[in-house]
Amino acid sequence: MLARRLQNIEESGIRKIFSRIQSVKDPIDLSIGQPHFDVPPEVKQAAIAAIEEGANRYTPTSGMPELRRRISAELLRKHGVRTDSILVTSGAAGGLTLAVLALLNEGDGALIPDPYFIVYKNVVSAVGGVPQFIDTYPDFKLTPARIRAAVTPATRMLFLNNPNNPTGAAYTGAELRAIAAEAERHGLWIVSDEIYEAFCYDFPFESMLKFSERCILVTAFSKTYGMPGWRVGYAAAPREVCDAMQVLSQFSYVCAPTPFQKACIRALDLDVSGITKEYRAKRDFVVGALRERFEIAVPGGAFYVFPRVPWGTDEEFIEAAIAERLLVVPGNACSRRHTHFRVSYAAADGVLEKGVEVLNRLAARGAR
Ligand code: PMP
Repeated sequence: MLARRLQNIEESGIRKIFSRIQSVKDPIDLSIGQPHFDVPPEVKQAAIAAIEEGANRYTPTSGMPELRRRISAELLRKHGVRTDSILVTSGAAGGLTLAVLALLNEGDGALIPDPYFIVYKNVVSAVGGVPQFIDTYPDFKLTPARIRAAVTPATRMLFLNNPNNPTGAAYTGAELRAIAAEAERHGLWIVSDEIYEAFCYDFPFESMLKFSERCILVTAFSKTYGMPGWRVGYAAAPREVCDAMQVLSQFSYVCAPTPFQKACIRALDLDVSGITKEYRAKRDFVVGALRERFEIAVPGGAFYVFPRVPWGTDEEFIEAAIAERLLVVPGNACSRRHTHFRVSYAAADGVLEKGVEVLNRLAARGAR
């Protein structure tokens, strides 16, 4: 009944855990992929005002001109990158889909560092592309050597998620420069997913846009401003690619929601450094609390820790956690391996305390 392209697509393992939440009474939920804070009040007010003022019609497919101007100014201010080749997208997921549609032909390979954000491999598969996984265990860092070992003549694209979901791996400017140079050597497009930019804890965040001319930056307002349901993001790419993505958006979701685009202009006025500080403290707490009993590569960003399971497979460990009302994500939902699990620390401190207590109790059970 369904098109062949569906054959290579799997339901998100994280969604499966979501459905388990319903059956767990009073869960300690560390499975979440969105920040625990709400949209700042002044940004909510801007959205309400936009609706009342009639900002309810289509915007140009490339996005509201004022928002695009502001994004362009931000890219210059933060990264020293001068570009007006910007497309407002429906979340980062919208940008990822458009980038793949614009650049990947059937049979083309796309390098995906494993562990990965689940969307990459499914979008690549949906267009008939071939996911080419690069195992990055145990430190979860993509390196030029790892690219060299995985690249084939069919490879056309490389995904980089900095900072990374689910591992929290973050890349310095020097590391990005080296990755960009290696990608260039093989003529690859880099799809750089920078949605966790505001959650970079140990050094100033730098964008791949600075280092590669064949970079498609994909990002969104979703995480930084607590608005994943508002569906606003943006992509920046070389003109021809950006134009192609814009054409494709005309035939899919048309434009990002108009009142929320307007509110995002207000969001860009805000200083978000407080969030970085707050989440750095959460990272330090969780890593400090788990470090003794779990093998952990200390995450430099995002809001996840990706420890090795202390016994059993990821699924066995997750079942034991659920029996203790704790929800975390099995590693295999975002990896080909079954050896790790994802803890999200996008939660109130009280919830984190309960969560690490359960995890340490489970680890103490030892091998069964
Ligand atoms: N990229 C990564 C790495 C993510 O973790 C997410 C959301 N979990 C997205 C993209 C999708 O973001 P959006 O909701 O803005 O589409």
